[in-house]
Amino acid sequence: MKKIISLLLTGVLVTASITGCGSSNAGSGSSGAASPCLSDGVLTVGTNAEFPPFEYVGDNGQPDGFDIGLIKAVGEELGVEIVVENMEFDSLVSSIGSKTDAAIAGMTVTEERQQSVDFSVPYYSAIQHVLVAKDSNIATYDDLVGKTIGCQLGTTGDFIIEEIEGATDQQYNKAVDAVNDLVNGRLDAVIVDSNPAAVFAANYPDKIKDLNGEDFGFEIEEYAIALPKGDAALKEAIDVAITKIKENGTFDKLVDEYM
Ligand code: GLN
Repeated sequence: MKKIISLLLTGVLVTASITGCGSSNAGSGSSGAASPCLSDGVLTVGTNAEFPPFEYVGDNGQPDGFDIGLIKAVGEELGVEIVVENMEFDSLVSSIGSKTDAAIAGMTVTEERQQSVDFSVPYYSAIQHVLVAKDSNIATYDDLVGKTIGCQLGTTGDFIIEEIEGATDQQYNKAVDAVNDLVNGRLDAVIVDSNPAAVFAANYPDKIKDLNGEDFGFEIEEYAIALPKGDAALKEAIDVAITKIKENGTFDKLVDEYM
């Protein structure tokens, strides 16, 4: 009997993982059908808690920050529990549909990522900044040619460095480690998003200059929540929730609390 029950349970688990959220079945129902990601009452959301003020490890050891507040507010709107999984930034997109249902991580909408995931409506605009030593002469894009530049692996800053002629792209798992190497004189510059750049630079007011990427010709980027490709019901539900959170003042409260 025990054997039969455990076989049945295995069957249930296997079925659950095949038809689970983010699988190829997602969104295949008639329009208006509930998302498979929401039907169990839990939305598992990946983040990389190394990107203050959007996400960082709080005093209690758990991910905290603007994005965490935002996704919890989305969870309240949708009536689902939010479970946050902290992982490497570079794994966030590929985890959607297997380990997670979505990702929130100050993630920029890019065409390349859109090959594998869909994005919610954007919720924040940003631009890459260039951190350099206080006494550095770097001030324009051309000054970056041939330099050793640090970034977080798999980020839009990383993609910018790849395009800079003769530059050595030093990739780190955490942007803060790149910043430490800049302070130690091992890098000429670090390219990182505007808000974290300000947080990191504020830690070393005597050692680091925070240069706006506008002066380097960088483009404005839009942050959005990454979602399983093709799950139109989930995207619709999350877009409606974000719009509501922007309209009802919750978004501004989060800006006041975290920015
Ligand atoms: N906005 C950048 C990107 O999407 C960096 C995000 C991050 O490091 N968390 O690549």
